[in-house]
Amino acid sequence: MDLGLSGKRALVTGASRGLGCAIATSLIGEGADVAICARDEARIHETAARIGARGFACDLTPRGAGKSLSEAVVQAMGEIDILVVNTGGPPAGTFDALASSAWELALNALFMSAIELIGAALPGMRQRGWGRILVVTSVAAKEPHPGLILSNAIRPALHGLVNSLSREVASEGVTVNAILPGLTRTERLQELGLGEEAVAALVPAGRMGTPEEFAALATFLVSGPAGYVTGQAVACDGGLLRSI
Ligand code: NAD
Repeated sequence: MDLGLSGKRALVTGASRGLGCAIATSLIGEGADVAICARDEARIHETAARIGARGFACDLTPRGAGKSLSEAVVQAMGEIDILVVNTGGPPAGTFDALASSAWELALNALFMSAIELIGAALPGMRQRGWGRILVVTSVAAKEPHPGLILSNAIRPALHGLVNSLSREVASEGVTVNAILPGLTRTERLQELGLGEEAVAALVPAGRMGTPEEFAALATFLVSGPAGYVTGQAVACDGGLLRSI
């Protein structure tokens, strides 16, 4: 299948490692011109050089960072045809353990950064009559995970945003979707203390997913042939979600 991605200009955020890096690598493999960002300057440039992307050091938590990043990327690449919104997961914790400052940081990093990135990329997509916006969320947005209250509370708001916005722009050639990782082999999973055996017991597929499997779905969702898929929250989870 020709995915029609050759020459498309993509920004993938949170991509020095893990799922963002796998998506960027896959898009580059399809011939896209890809910009990636992450917080650590040395690490993002090392990853960019390794996979053939353009690297931008940027912490998406402070207000205004998403807008500034988009401006820098547009200056370097001309436009953004494909936007993949991704950042690191918020800290684990229960309600009692989290101060209001932790909520504010998580809201900025997960939600407001998405608003800013989409706000900056969308006008050009509408003008050209073609665009793809994909927001990386989590299976926790559909079935809350114990001890991850920040993620459980904030990610469903992104699904509301994706679905509402998709309807506003559907007639203009722009699709807006969410992609939900299940338990996928990245450093994030190690940080949460989830090993192979624990995951095998939880997931019907009996194993962790790989970043490459996740990236394959993401790549299809931002492709030309996926032009009629919009407003969806699509999981790549080995059968983990039970909700219909
Ligand atoms: P990861 O921690 O391995 O990688 C996250 C990437 O985002 C890194 O490149 C990091 O530098 C960057 N990043 C983090 N905070 C940032 C910020 N404020 N500004 C800019 N860049 C930032 O995570 P991952 O496993 O690749 O997961 C990606 C997303 O998917 C996360 O939100 C995670 O919570 C979610 N998720 C992952 C899994 C999984 O099993 N891996 C499951 C469910 C949800």
